[in-house]
Amino acid sequence: MKSVWNGLARTDRADLRRLQDERLVQHVRERLYPFSAHYRRVFDAAGVKPTDIRGVADLARLPFTMKADLLAAQSDPARKRDFVLVPSPELIREHWPLAKKLRLLAGGGEARERLRRDYTPNFVTFTTGRSADPIVFAYTPYDIQILAEVGARMFDVHGIQDPLARIVNMFPFAPHLAFWQATWAGFETGCMMLSTGGGKVMGTAGNLRILERVQPTVLIGTPGFVYHLLREGAELKTKLDQVALVILGAEKVTPGLKEKMGEALARMGSRKVTISGTYGFTEARMAFSECPASHAESPGYHVYPDLGVFEVVDPVSGAVLGEGETGELVYTPIDGHGTVVCRYRTGDLAVGGITWEPCPWCKRTVPRIASELRRVSDQRSMSLTKIKGTLVDLSSMGSVLSNTPEIEEWQVVLQKKNDDPHELDELIVRLSVRSGTDRAACEKKVRQELLIGVEIAPNVVEFKTTPEMLEVLGMETEMKEKRFLDRRPK
Ligand SMILES: [Zn+2]
Repeated sequence: MKSVWNGLARTDRADLRRLQDERLVQHVRERLYPFSAHYRRVFDAAGVKPTDIRGVADLARLPFTMKADLLAAQSDPARKRDFVLVPSPELIREHWPLAKKLRLLAGGGEARERLRRDYTPNFVTFTTGRSADPIVFAYTPYDIQILAEVGARMFDVHGIQDPLARIVNMFPFAPHLAFWQATWAGFETGCMMLSTGGGKVMGTAGNLRILERVQPTVLIGTPGFVYHLLREGAELKTKLDQVALVILGAEKVTPGLKEKMGEALARMGSRKVTISGTYGFTEARMAFSECPASHAESPGYHVYPDLGVFEVVDPVSGAVLGEGETGELVYTPIDGHGTVVCRYRTGDLAVGGITWEPCPWCKRTVPRIASELRRVSDQRSMSLTKIKGTLVDLSSMGSVLSNTPEIEEWQVVLQKKNDDPHELDELIVRLSVRSGTDRAACEKKVRQELLIGVEIAPNVVEFKTTPEMLEVLGMETEMKEKRFLDRRPK
């Protein structure tokens, strides 16, 4: 498979486009329309025949799929499997081209077993986040192969060439994409990977002991936990001088946070470190990587044109935008089975959209998603909250705080004044800061930057010690630290 990727990453855009058109056509005619109850209805309602989709440009004839569509299907027992590709002898007879049917017949038991492994789910991951119900995405053995292949591609983009790389994976043990994507990257590449399960499983001290013993060259984890661990390690004068690469996932990473991690690593002896982000989402069942460029100028996330199509659309009108234009990312897989979406609205706004220009850093020719991602500014987004009547993007608020050099840990609390449901909203920002920081100056700076960044000022800025902050965040007790606490009555 590696040769496939190496070839793709050097193929020019016209050929990549052609490949995507062919794969999309095959996917729609032989898998999506025949075997997805949901999309059969969607195509029929839109008056689009599967043969009308002749390439990526025709996707615009189909409506978008929203998170709400997935939730609605999942919560209805009769429609639970509507997004899962479920073949049957009748559907195969009706929809597959004759040659494909003949191959299945001629292939006997072996071909039937392959069909079973391609289409029978044996693994799931869930969405996380603040949304009410997690959405379940099913994988089949075929899809796990793709997950593994993507893991290997990610390591390739991150520049992990050395088979002797020692990797510590600190994503929490959970049915979430991040942990499994990283784990399969290790399995597929044959690199040594030790998974600690993060803070909840082994605690800060346990994770630090493992780092000291393994002396990893690569660290993988969430920005919040990895930064906490590196800062603690530096305080305790832990020796960690082999780290060359830190791969972060599951949350947004700001350049300021990368700088802070780099400083902590330098204090432990690792001086030449690249800190890279990844972008992935449950609905894609895969993640995408930055190549190891400098921290200030990321060339963006390298995508896999043979496995899926990204469109960039105007978040309001839904119109498909051109190359390099800022808009919402919409994803359509063109390979795979199990739970499959089509034109899925991610809710992620790529500032600068997608480019097909070869990467200035690694020269790969696959499309790249601009590195600056925001949540789309509308009510559909789960991370948007009304505070004092203003719609605020919590993830941008988090970016402002984690990007500030003086801040070690932070938490945002929303509550009603005097705990009275009829009272006004109160926004409290809790901080712990580096020793030697002038608190009054820091508070002023935070207020100003929040006002500029998200157009809201906190009612109160509370200073706490870092151990107090770790406690309220649940750094060692929660699967994911509690950065945002909404205590307002629902
Ligand atoms: Zn690159």
